[in-house]
This record gives sequence, structure tokens and C-alpha cells, in this order.
Amino acid sequence: MPAGADQLLYLRVQTPNSMNIPARLWSAEAFHDHQPRDYALEALYFGIVLAIAFYNLMLFFALRDLNYLIYVAFATCVSLALATFTGMGGEFIWGFAPTWTKIGVNVPGALASVAMLYFTRRLLNTAQVVPRIDPWLKLLMAASAVFFFLLILWFWEVNRFFVVTNLVTSLLILGTGMVCAIKRQRSAYYFVAAFSVLFLANVLSHMRNLGVVPTNVFTSDGLQIGSVIEMMLLSLALADRFNVMRRQKIAAQAQALQVQGELVETLKASEHLLEGRVAERTAELQAANKQLEAISTTDALTGIANRRHFDTVLADEWTRAARAGHTLALGFMDVDWFKKYNDHYGHPAGDECLRQVARVLSEAIGRTGDLVARYGGEEFVFITPATTIENAVLMAQRVCAAMQALSLVHELSEFACVTVSIGVASMLPEQGRSSYDLVTAADKALYAAKQQGRNRVVAAA
Ligand code: GH3
Ligand code: MG
Ligand code: MG
Repeated sequence: MPAGADQLLYLRVQTPNSMNIPARLWSAEAFHDHQPRDYALEALYFGIVLAIAFYNLMLFFALRDLNYLIYVAFATCVSLALATFTGMGGEFIWGFAPTWTKIGVNVPGALASVAMLYFTRRLLNTAQVVPRIDPWLKLLMAASAVFFFLLILWFWEVNRFFVVTNLVTSLLILGTGMVCAIKRQRSAYYFVAAFSVLFLANVLSHMRNLGVVPTNVFTSDGLQIGSVIEMMLLSLALADRFNVMRRQKIAAQAQALQVQGELVETLKASEHLLEGRVAERTAELQAANKQLEAISTTDALTGIANRRHFDTVLADEWTRAARAGHTLALGFMDVDWFKKYNDHYGHPAGDECLRQVARVLSEAIGRTGDLVARYGGEEFVFITPATTIENAVLMAQRVCAAMQALSLVHELSEFACVTVSIGVASMLPEQGRSSYDLVTAADKALYAAKQQGRNRVVAAA
């Protein structure tokens, strides 16, 4: 064509789809210059999409989260549609395929819609967050799936309906994202940003087609740029969602751990309390037992050993003396004219008198190993191991003297004061003898002391 010449060219195009034909006349040099750069840009786009898709596929295998797989399906469908749309697919991959060139944008586009609607519903959790919108998303999902087959079978007839449906789908997805963002759904922020970029790229592309904005890299390749940015932002949304879930899990774990710790502390505290209580009760029980033992071995009136304790000690001492081969001495003591004392001074005074007698007795027979006890009524006993009869008599005489020294007035006694009579016996435990014999012998000696005039000590024969 000569320079400055006008030439009218007619191009007749028939397509069931929308199509822009950026007719531009190039000089051979400029075209050769432009072409590799154009290819480089396209290659860059497909490279990025491939990397994103592959990376997210790996994430799916690693994390087993279906969202990643859906996202990969979406990215694959979009890049397939764009490969057809830009002609790159035909030029480099599947070659001359007019039928596919015709349907190859919208058929994968329908699948991309299904994937994106499903992805939206899952990422934004629309069933819970926006339950009124969710059924519409489901409906469009079903419609897009049906369109996938219809477009393959009757592209000419159904394409216009698909284009309208697709427009509705895009607007609904963007709207859903915005509603969720308003409801402070965290993932929705990335989501809205991603779709806004794609929306803007779409608008720019249309404006360029209408000649409103000039043709340049951003307007002619705007869809690819927008699509890459969208995919990266969606990928970020997925990463953020994962992060949020991880944080929630960590927080839940920390809480569980804290609750467990508190439980352990509570258990420890209650165990400690219980131990304290048990120790307290044990101490109380021991004290009560001690008290009970003391009560069971002590005479309530006089505070010295009682008959029961005396019997036990006597049996023990008898065995011990038998084993050691030494004698055991026993004194049996009875208060003189005590009935008269009681009758004359009254029972309470009689009780007081018995207390005095017990005190005098235990003071006089205070050696360790000896035992004084109240045998019953106004009768008392003492046991003294390894003691000869002579020494036992001396001990008994000490008691008699001490009683007289006390000078407890007893008007009806011929001694004018309270006196005692004591029978003493000492025995070497031998075959055929029992402690009973010792008591009987002492009792007999006491009887003799009474007979001989009271206020005296008599040793058993
Ligand atoms: P004897 O010199 O022969 O021993 O004369 P007695 O009056 O002491 O003889 P008897 O054994 O008959 O008297 C015992 C009295 O002791 C009878 C009873 O009233 C009194 N008695 C026994 N136990 C108690 C007691 O616990 N308290 C008081 N106050 N009196 C008691
Ligand atoms: Mg008596
Ligand atoms: Mg008496």
C-alpha cells in the first residue's frame, strides 16, 4: 500500500458469541517487534496461573481441604477459556479446531461458574452467614452445570441464555461477597477485592472495545491481568482462612489446656483438703481412743486404776513374775467402819473420803512398776512386783500410818479417824498356782486384820 493511501477493507465475521476484533494495521517491523512481547505477556499470564493452580493443588493434597481443589478447578477452567479466547491454545496446543474455538470460551466458562459458585458458598459459609442468598447460589450452580452440556450440544441456541445467566452469576457472587463483608466475614474482604479487580478489568475491556479508553496493555490484556490479580487475592483468602482456623484451633487448645490445668488444681486442692480432713479426723479419733482407753481403765470416783485394769495388770505381772522367777506381792485394803461413816456423814462425804484414801494410797505406793487400784466399794488393792513379804508389809504399814496421819475425823470409829486394814500376800508363781490364789491369800489376811481389831497390816501365812 503506498504511503498515505486510503484502502477500504471489509471483514465478514460470523460468531454466535461476543467477539472483539481489534483490527489494526501494522508495519511489518512494528508487528515483528510487538509479537514476541505479546507472546511473552501471554506466557507470563499462563505461567502465573499454572503456578497458582499447581501450588494450590499441592496445598489440597497437604491440607485435604476441598476448597483448594475447587479453586484449582476454577483457575484451570478460566485459563482454558482465556487460552481459547486469546488464541494461544489454538496456536500452541490443540491447533486448528474451529468447533472448539467457537465453544471453547463458554463451555469451560460454565464449569468455571460452577466451581466459583461452589467456592463462594464454601469460603464465605453462605448457608450460615447469608441463608437467604444461598439457595440462589445453589440454583445458579445447577443452571451452570446444565449449561455446560447444553452449550456442547446446542451452542447457537443456548449461548445467549448462558451469557445472561453468567452476568447474573457474576453480579450475585460480587453481591454475596459484599453482604458477607458488611457482616464482617473476614474471608469476604479478600473475596470482594478479588472480584472487584476482575469486574474493573471487565469494565475496562468493554470500554476499550467501545473506544472510550485507548488500547494499551492494561485495556487489551486487562482480563488476563485482572484474572491473575483475582486468583492471587482468592489464594490469599484461602491462606487467611487457613490461618484463622489455625488460630482458632490454637486458642481452643490453649483453652482446653487451661481448663485441664484448673481441673487438676481443683482436684489437688480437694485432695489436699481431704487429706487434711482425714488427718484431722484421725487425730480426733486417736484422742477419743486415748480418752476411751483412759476411761475404760480408770475409776471414775477416785481417778486411780479400776478393777478391770487391775485384773489385766495382775494377769500380766503374774506371767512376767513366772517368767522372771521372782515373787509378786499384793495388798488388799478395806476402809474400817465405812458403813458407819457413810451413814453418819452421808454418801457425798463418803465419796470424798474414798478419794482421800485413794490419794494417800497412790502417794504411799508410788514406785514405778507398782499399781494401785480400786477393787470395788471401799476396797483397794496394790500390786508390787519382785517384792518380799516383809517389804510388802512395810509398804502397807506406810499406808496405814499415812491414813492415820491424815486424821480424817470419824466419830463412830474407835480410832476417832478414818483408818484402813490391809492384808498382804507375796507369792512365787509356780505350777498349780494362779493369781487368783494370791488375791484369796491377801483377802484372807485382810479378814484376819479385821478380826484382830482393824487399823493394821496382816501378812498371809
Ligand atoms: P468393816 O470395818 O468391817 O469393813 O466395816 P464396813 O462398814 O466398812 O463394812 P462394809 O464392807 O459392810 O461396808 C462397806 C460400805 O461401803 C457399804 C457401802 O455403803 C459403802 N460404799 C461402797 N461403795 C461406796 C461408794 O462408792 N461411795 C460411798 N460413799 N460408799 C460406798
Ligand atoms: Mg468392805
Ligand atoms: Mg470396810
